[in-house]
Amino acid sequence: MDQRICPLIKKCGGCQYIGMPYREQLKKKQKIVEQLLHKYGKVQKIIGMEAPEHYRNKVHAAFAFQKGKGIVSGIYQEGSHRVVSVDECLLEDRKADEIVVSIRRLAKSFKIKAYDEDTGYGLLRHVLIRVGQTTGQIMVVLVLGSPVFPSKKNFVRELCKLHPDITTVILNVNNKRTSMILGDKEEVLYGKGYIEDRLCGKIFRISAKSFYQVNAVQTEKLYRKALEYAALTGQETIVDAYCGIGTIGLAASEHVKKVIGVELNRSAVKDAVINARINGIRNADFYQNDAGKFMIQLAEAGEEVDVLFMDPPRSGSTEEFMNAALCLRPERIVYISCNPETLARDLQYLTGEIEDEKGKSRGRNEKYKVVEITPVDMFPWTTHVEVACCLQRKDL
Ligand code: SAH
Repeated sequence: MDQRICPLIKKCGGCQYIGMPYREQLKKKQKIVEQLLHKYGKVQKIIGMEAPEHYRNKVHAAFAFQKGKGIVSGIYQEGSHRVVSVDECLLEDRKADEIVVSIRRLAKSFKIKAYDEDTGYGLLRHVLIRVGQTTGQIMVVLVLGSPVFPSKKNFVRELCKLHPDITTVILNVNNKRTSMILGDKEEVLYGKGYIEDRLCGKIFRISAKSFYQVNAVQTEKLYRKALEYAALTGQETIVDAYCGIGTIGLAASEHVKKVIGVELNRSAVKDAVINARINGIRNADFYQNDAGKFMIQLAEAGEEVDVLFMDPPRSGSTEEFMNAALCLRPERIVYISCNPETLARDLQYLTGEIEDEKGKSRGRNEKYKVVEITPVDMFPWTTHVEVACCLQRKDL
C-alpha cells in the first residue's frame, strides 16, 4: 500500500478505501446500496464529491503521554486505546489539523500533562475542532480530565495568536472513565461558545455537543434530494424526526405550512429553536423527546402530518416509531439513512411483512411503497454511505 498517500495507512484503519481511485469507490458503494436495497425500489446513481479530500469539518484528537515521545495527539489505533500520532489527515479539514498540532506544542511549553486513561491523572484528554466551512468560524473544545486549568488565559491567548481564525474556545470537563469524548460541564473561555455555518441558504448555530453533518458540501446535495422527494407545495405539515439542530426542517420551512421537529439531545434542540429565530422562521416548533414516544403522542393527538422526514442514527429507527408513523399516514416519508443495512430492515417493516416479537406475521402492511433511492457519498475513502429514500402511501 502507498505510504505516500498516508503514512498511517496500516495503523489507523479509518480509510478503508485508501489507495482505491475515487471513481472505483463510488462504484463500490453503488453496488453495496443496490445489493441491499434494489428489491425495495429503484436505486439512482450515487452523488459523489468533486474534491473528495479534507471534507471533515469536525476533527477529534486524543491526547496521551508516551515514553520517549512525550505528549502525543492523534487517533486511537484501530481496535485499541493506543494513540497514534497524526499531524495531517486526508479526510480532515487542514486548518483544524494545524490547530491540533499547535495545541500539542503549546501543551509541551506550558508543561500541561496529558490525561492518563489508566490512572486518571493528567489534564489534557481530547481536542475537538469544528469548522464552519462557509463562514470560516472555528470552535476549539479542550476536553480536560479536571476543571482546574491554571494557565488557561495565557494558553488561549497564545493559541488564538497562532490561529486568529479561531472564533471560540470551550473548556469541557470529562473526568469519567468512559470512551465518550465530551463530558457534561462546559465553560466558554473565548468567543460565543458556538459556531455558525451556512447551509441551503440558512444560517445554523452549532454548539459543541450538538450533532452536525461532518461533510457540509455533500449535506447540501443530500438535503436538496430530500426536499425534491418531499415534493412540497406550501400547504403541508411536516415532521422532522431526529432533527439535530433543525437543518432539514428549517431548510424546508419556506415550502410548507408548518414544521414540527423532534430530537433527543437537549443542546441540539436549543440550537434548533435559536436557528429558527435567527433565520426569521415562525412556522417551526421543536420538541425535546424520544422520537418514537413523540410520534405516538402525535398519533394519539390526531395530528395531521403530510410529509415525514426521518434521519435516525446508525442503529436506524424503532418499531414504536414506525408503527406511530403508519398510524399518522403521511403521504410521503423521506427516510435519510447513514446505514443502508438498518435502512433495509426498516424498509422491510414499512413496506412489507410485519412480524411480532415471536416472529409471527401480523399480516402484510401494504401502506407504503418505495418510489426512489439515491445514495450520497458523504464519507469518501471510507466504506460509509448515506442514502435518501422516498416512500409514498400506496393509496395515492
Ligand atoms: N437530521 C439531523 C441529525 C441527524 S443525526 C441532521 O441532518 O443534521 C441523528 C440525530 O438523532 C442526532 O441528532 C441524535 O441526537 C438524534 N437521536 C438519536 N436517538 C434519538 C431518539 N431516540 N429520539 C430522537 N432523536 C434521537
